[in-house]
Amino acid sequence: MLKLTMPEIVVLSEGLQNRIAAGEVIERPASVVKELVENSIDAGAAEIAVEVLDGGRRLILVSDDGRGMDREDALICFHPHATSKISKEDDLFDIRTLGFRGEALSSIASVSRLKITTAPSGSTLGVSVEVHGGELRDVRESAHTGTTIEVRDLFFNTPARKKFLKSQRTEVYHIVETVTVAALSRPEVAFSLSVDRAETLRLPAAGSIRERILQVYGEEFLRGLREVAGGEVTALISEEGNYRSSRSTQYVFVNRRPVRDASLRHALYSAYDAALPRDRHPIFFLYLDITPSEVDFNVHPAKREVRFRDKEAVYRSVYNAVRGALRGSADEPSGYAEASVDAHVEPQPGVTAADAVPAHASAGSIVSDSLVKYGGDLKYIYLGDVFVAYTDGRGITLLDHHAAHERILYERLLKGGMGLEVTQMLFPRQVKLPAREYRVLLQHIEAIREMGIEAEDFGHDTLMVRAVPRFLFDADIPAILSDIAFCLTEGRTGSPVEEMKKRIAKRIACHGSVRGAVMLSHAEIARLLEDLSAAEDPEHCPHGRPTRIRMSLDDLKRMFRRTG
Ligand code: ADP
Ligand code: MG
Repeated sequence: MLKLTMPEIVVLSEGLQNRIAAGEVIERPASVVKELVENSIDAGAAEIAVEVLDGGRRLILVSDDGRGMDREDALICFHPHATSKISKEDDLFDIRTLGFRGEALSSIASVSRLKITTAPSGSTLGVSVEVHGGELRDVRESAHTGTTIEVRDLFFNTPARKKFLKSQRTEVYHIVETVTVAALSRPEVAFSLSVDRAETLRLPAAGSIRERILQVYGEEFLRGLREVAGGEVTALISEEGNYRSSRSTQYVFVNRRPVRDASLRHALYSAYDAALPRDRHPIFFLYLDITPSEVDFNVHPAKREVRFRDKEAVYRSVYNAVRGALRGSADEPSGYAEASVDAHVEPQPGVTAADAVPAHASAGSIVSDSLVKYGGDLKYIYLGDVFVAYTDGRGITLLDHHAAHERILYERLLKGGMGLEVTQMLFPRQVKLPAREYRVLLQHIEAIREMGIEAEDFGHDTLMVRAVPRFLFDADIPAILSDIAFCLTEGRTGSPVEEMKKRIAKRIACHGSVRGAVMLSHAEIARLLEDLSAAEDPEHCPHGRPTRIRMSLDDLKRMFRRTG
């Protein structure tokens, strides 16, 4: 008989199946926090407390005052596909709870040492169940109210996954973010978070989304937001002009479930339209209320995405609601688009009316909209509102004045010290920040100080800003701090200090130079060109885009085929 050497197919053991499934649901400690907090919310908790040790590796504890479980349920809840939330296929299209897949506890149980202590509401006679790596270890009676779930030694039996964990700081950042998002989704629930025994978030039950945002971000932040209320859409969004240079503060909730949705984001950006400069991002907290049968939540293992039955209708209602709210803000009811274009030519301090160029900048007719100026030996012409063409008689150079300005500021910031004119503030500014941003800024407060932003810890998620570089004097300090925090947590962590400094400098430079479309005066252009020539890398802005493009007479000859 011929012996076949084909690999044999085996059905994986249940334990291995679970660990594979766990990989999709439980990526990192923050995913455990997300799932447990969601279970507490589904259990009708009024108060949820989260504690973590060592970035969640050693311990993640979530306790709630929800309806709890009886002994029988406590013994089954950590089995795969065990759920009390749906029972038949139709239920999948009428989901009103955050959970429904019955995968979280079993996934967590298979990769950690899990302890569930719970009692059904109305009774204090509870049960405590221990499961290690998916195996039941211990069951005993225990007095309790609500439910407490302790997860110890996450990934202790999946070393490969454990290796993927980032630094403790990064994991904590994600945990803080996760609890914050949950808190934003349920203002009526009280949340607390302690990190290595230090209280990091404490949010008492709030009466509205507005109040919850106030608790998390502070009053000043809230003042920059506009409320949108219409039909299925409720939102708080950036007032015009209150933009950021990153997407760090953008949240979408569908039926109070946090989701990512590119199309909804697009609807929102479109509603700002011309008012939103390139590379700037609005803040938004968008809450959609959709009939459960109109939306499919069963799209993503971690339930981060949704599918709408009528995507276009949802897009339209977000667009219309936001657009309507923004339109209401224009002083002239005559036309939102017009008003926003006019904003480009608002005279700025230091720029006289004669210096300003009317920006009827309709694309395509650049030259007719620009203004020719002469003076000294510098001849230049504005093309649109950021490009400047100038000539020295031997060629022509095209300059992006924002990019150039950013380069100059960036190098100054990195050099720090004398090159930076630092201005003490008459009244030091208290800036309250979301807990995760506060933490990361504190860790880099020295580097930030070297760049002229003198801030100190004021406790309670608040920094006291005493001085800023002169060019930031009337910039939006909370926005800058929050952008810096965001860039510090982006990408790889544990990067060398120099790398972190560069990131910070890039952000600050961006804020210093992107100040609407301000046309520079002759003297300012001359100064900019001089400073740029003195820069170490005059050709690129800190993000790597060109600052200037030069065409020599020779280049021009070649282009007109006049060579030879
Ligand atoms: P799902 O949430 O998708 O149902 P889980 O694995 O997260 O699946 O939880 C399984 C079940 O355990 C839930 O359906 C619920 O009945 C019960 N359960 C989990 N956490 C709690 C809690 N904090 N309070 C009460 N019951 C809970
Ligand atoms: Mg669940």
